[in-house]
Amino acid sequence: MHEQRTDVDANIDATAATDVEADVVVVGGGSAGIAAAVSASEEGARTLLLESSGSVGGTLAWQLLEHSAGFHDVRGNQVVGGFGQRLVDRLVRGGGSPGHVRDDVGYTATRTPVDHAELALTESIMLAEAGVEVWLQSGPHAIHRAGDVIEFLAVHTPNGPRRVRAPVIIDASGDAVVASLAGVPMQPDTADTQPASLLFKLGGVDVGALLDYLREHPSEVRPGSTLGYGTDEHANVWGLGELLSAGYTSGKLGLRRTELHLAAWPQRGEVVVNATRTPVRSGDGWAGAAHAQLSHQVLQFVRWMREDVPGFAHCHLTAVGDRVGIRESRRVVGVYTMTGDDVRCGARFDDSIGCGAFPIDIHSADRPGLSHTDAVGAGFEIPARILFVPACANLVVAGRCLSSTHEANGSLRITATCFVTGEAAGVAAALAVEHGIHPEKGDYDLLRQRLLARDAIVSLNGGS
Ligand SMILES: Cc1cc2nc3c(=O)[nH]c(=O)nc-3n(C[C@H](O)[C@H](O)[C@H](O)COP(=O)(O)OP(=O)(O)OC[C@H]3O[C@@H](n4cnc5c(N)ncnc54)[C@H](O)[C@@H]3O)c2cc1C
Repeated sequence: MHEQRTDVDANIDATAATDVEADVVVVGGGSAGIAAAVSASEEGARTLLLESSGSVGGTLAWQLLEHSAGFHDVRGNQVVGGFGQRLVDRLVRGGGSPGHVRDDVGYTATRTPVDHAELALTESIMLAEAGVEVWLQSGPHAIHRAGDVIEFLAVHTPNGPRRVRAPVIIDASGDAVVASLAGVPMQPDTADTQPASLLFKLGGVDVGALLDYLREHPSEVRPGSTLGYGTDEHANVWGLGELLSAGYTSGKLGLRRTELHLAAWPQRGEVVVNATRTPVRSGDGWAGAAHAQLSHQVLQFVRWMREDVPGFAHCHLTAVGDRVGIRESRRVVGVYTMTGDDVRCGARFDDSIGCGAFPIDIHSADRPGLSHTDAVGAGFEIPARILFVPACANLVVAGRCLSSTHEANGSLRITATCFVTGEAAGVAAALAVEHGIHPEKGDYDLLRQRLLARDAIVSLNGGS
């Protein structure tokens, strides 16, 4: 199979596209993009969101994540407010989340289980309420630049090609798709890029029988787990090392693992399983080979669980992540690059736009354990400068593709923190439009004031 490289401008000129204008264009309707689009629109900018799949929600909704994480530091102090908290409050009111519950494996202070479908539907409604125009099944395939400014995006839509012009573009695509098309320099690839996974959901599970087994076999769960806490609502289990080892030795499992992660809704008899792994390189997530390999692993795990794991005898596969779940791919080189030391040492910044506190969570494609983590104590501040790109003056980046090293990204990529960087990107974009300047030239104090007015937590002491 050959890939033919086409000249970007020639590609644009070849399509008779209709011109469309907005104040702010957001590419990617995941956690960061939704927060960005809602915030930009609420701050007065005419906002267009482009999402390549058929629904908003991104990885949190459609990779069926166990829970949104990162709202509190290890001591239980809240570090994320603003859009993320608004979304959680709304889900709680509608019954789509129990809210923040204690992390029963002691990994962080809290975790926030969500019903995936209710999350995505609620986010879609919030975008409409904020007045955001959303184009589904649409995304940029080429970019026209004039110097260091993106003039327009060439966008494919189900109704044909469009040229989309806006003074500010937000890349919240996870994979830094816009930045990559624009030729923005990227952080160097590391040998230990985090692996991809495919999460899956099983129904018909007798969660009580599973928990009984685990209580009788405490060595099957991580030390420090408070098994049984809140099990009416949601149970979080890391372990099953002994059963996994037996499954591998017997040949039922081709992938050697010493633990897996189960997130269970006991009353519904549903469990989300995080166990599969495959290596990927930056921007590789679309490759079908990785999907086929992960699919093989999913089906092996399902059969093994039916045969060997207490409570799963009559389970059935109810859902699978809608695409290869990418933990780490392209990350831009921004005005500042956040490092592992910034995260570990609780760095503070004059231009802080929010906080994070999730451990540096690094998974490995070839080690059998689930992940390696570095605790981060009281949390850290996030500087506005990691959202801005020197190579492209009207581009703002949010979510997991922002300017960070491999280590720092192990914490920044978590969904509560993506809500933070998305909201800050949206407000920064709206301010830039309001003042007729490029986002990085904006007044960071004003940005922080606007974020505070939106109930965001912009610094570790909670204030300005
Ligand atoms: C297997 C796995 C398990 C995880 N577990 C957890 C967990 O338990 N808790 C947690 O908080 N975090 C977890 N994470 C991390 C977290 O899910 C992600 O880092 C986070 O969701 C990234 O958010 P985002 O908005 O940057 O990107 P995404 O949520 O991935 O959104 C990007 C969006 O952009 C769209 N898009 C991509 N390209 C284009 C294009 N060209 N045009 C238009 N749209 C485009 C995509 O369709 C997608 O909707 C996990 C990640 C993985 C992969």
